[in-house]
Amino acid sequence: MSFLIKCIDCGHLAPYYPTSTTCPKCNSQWREAEYDYEIIGKTLLPKLATRPFDLWRYRELLPVRNPNVSLSLGEGGTPLIRAVNLGMMLGCPNIYIKDERQGPTSSFKDRQAAVTIAALKEAGITEMVAASTGNVAISYSAYASRAGMKLWAFVTSLVPAMKMREIALYGSQVIKITGSYDQCKQVAAEFARQRHLYQDMGARTITSIEAMKTIAFEIAEQLTAIQDTDDTGYPWRTPDWYVQAISGGMGPIGIYKGFREMQSMGWIEKIPAFAPIQAEGCAPMVTSWKKGLEKAVPVTSPKTRIETLATGDPGRSYEFLRDYVNNTNGAFESVSDEDAFRAMHVLAKMEGISAEPAAAVAFAGLFKLIRAGVIKPSDTVVVNCTGHTMPAEAGVLGDNWSRDVKLMTSDQTPQEGLLSALSQVAPERFPKIAIVEDTAEARRLIRRILQSQGSFTILEASNGREGLDMIQRELPDLVVLDLMMPEMDGFAVIEALRAKQETATIPVIVATAKELTPDEKNRLSGQIQSLMQKGDFLNDEFLEEVKALIK
Ligand SMILES: *Cc1c(COP(=O)(O)O)cnc(C)c1O
Ligand SMILES: [Zn+2]
Repeated sequence: MSFLIKCIDCGHLAPYYPTSTTCPKCNSQWREAEYDYEIIGKTLLPKLATRPFDLWRYRELLPVRNPNVSLSLGEGGTPLIRAVNLGMMLGCPNIYIKDERQGPTSSFKDRQAAVTIAALKEAGITEMVAASTGNVAISYSAYASRAGMKLWAFVTSLVPAMKMREIALYGSQVIKITGSYDQCKQVAAEFARQRHLYQDMGARTITSIEAMKTIAFEIAEQLTAIQDTDDTGYPWRTPDWYVQAISGGMGPIGIYKGFREMQSMGWIEKIPAFAPIQAEGCAPMVTSWKKGLEKAVPVTSPKTRIETLATGDPGRSYEFLRDYVNNTNGAFESVSDEDAFRAMHVLAKMEGISAEPAAAVAFAGLFKLIRAGVIKPSDTVVVNCTGHTMPAEAGVLGDNWSRDVKLMTSDQTPQEGLLSALSQVAPERFPKIAIVEDTAEARRLIRRILQSQGSFTILEASNGREGLDMIQRELPDLVVLDLMMPEMDGFAVIEALRAKQETATIPVIVATAKELTPDEKNRLSGQIQSLMQKGDFLNDEFLEEVKALIK
């Protein structure tokens, strides 16, 4: 896809690299993808008829050059469900639920993870850091597992244990931070900085905003199919309201961009009114908006049991959302935890939809705005049902699936506390393992097995010659070696390693798809520590070998 990254502050245009996170001209972290709307606006709609209903149907408007179908878990393409009973109860018949619970890990964060991981994979990145109140880390973990990426998931200790277990189940390293979510983000950022790892930047992550906007595309496309009554002169329709529970506000920022793009391509007439809803105990955007403030006053100690929504300091996201809400005649609103839990019951009992408390906040907000007359009975409303009540995965993981970090106090973060906390997360140096293997899929498999079960520094080479150079340079603790490779085969690599003193004792595991002849077995005997036949080596066996060979 051809697109450029435009700086929101100075307008500078630059090509896209996931690892460059600031404007090369003014250093701003606030940038967005810009496409050729003129051409795409004219050509994309006719193509949609033959494409599957997932988020990649809008691929011309996504920042991934070659969407990789092998990473997909069926992201996007969630149903738009009419809430008939709720509509009757509230006297507002046109309420629709965008059911994002039906994403692969049951929250709308799956879009963010699918697009971001696809872009990172395309850029050759194999390790990343994310701070999360739960769902982001779950989604990233699922996609990281498919893509052969390692995820360091920093979560606050208030995240429900079953969500943490879900993260660990996918093979990510869970790091539990006893502190606020804002502190958790700081620790994660410092960890990523020290180790030069890619880090999710919330609403400043270009791929995340781009992913979220597909919700807007789908809503317009689906609403048109359902409500194609009067001819507006535009190909697609939009609702009067878009209602969503927010934490940092990434969802509505992306979704607004989606509506804006459709408007500029002439697909829709108007952008709906935006209604971002927060939990009362952590509602910095709502209170700041109601006071008419241009910048948000942060909430330093959130008082809500709905941890998913506990962003106390929204930073500049508030300024964007404030504009969007004001431009569309929308409204910010907050609701109590009790109202959210009540809405959760109503939604389940009246519509058969079991939402997580954070998603129920949007419905409690809807009820409040209808009662207050802000949303009118004749309005068409779309509410984002952002996440499902999580199924528990208790019992399958055993102990030691997380590392705990306790910060000193909750209202201040001394730099020392932060640094000593980080040293608890992971040692300075991990055992180094070199993978020398010419097939990309096999490399990915071996890397993934290692990543999902422990912390290793993984080096990779795609042929024998490159592998030998790498081993001689890096002196790894272990080599996982293929036999059949171009340039120099595995037998020759072993001979070269054993011939030099520095590399003579490095343990080697041969992982091969080849049936070995008796003569070949002889050549390997005494030279390697272990032989694994690809295709029948299992995760556990392989790791046992690795652990035994690295002391
Ligand atoms: C992340 C999340 C939200 C808040 O989303 P933002 O748009 O990032 O503020 C709401 N509900 C659920 C279930 C979430 O996971
Ligand atoms: Zn700039």
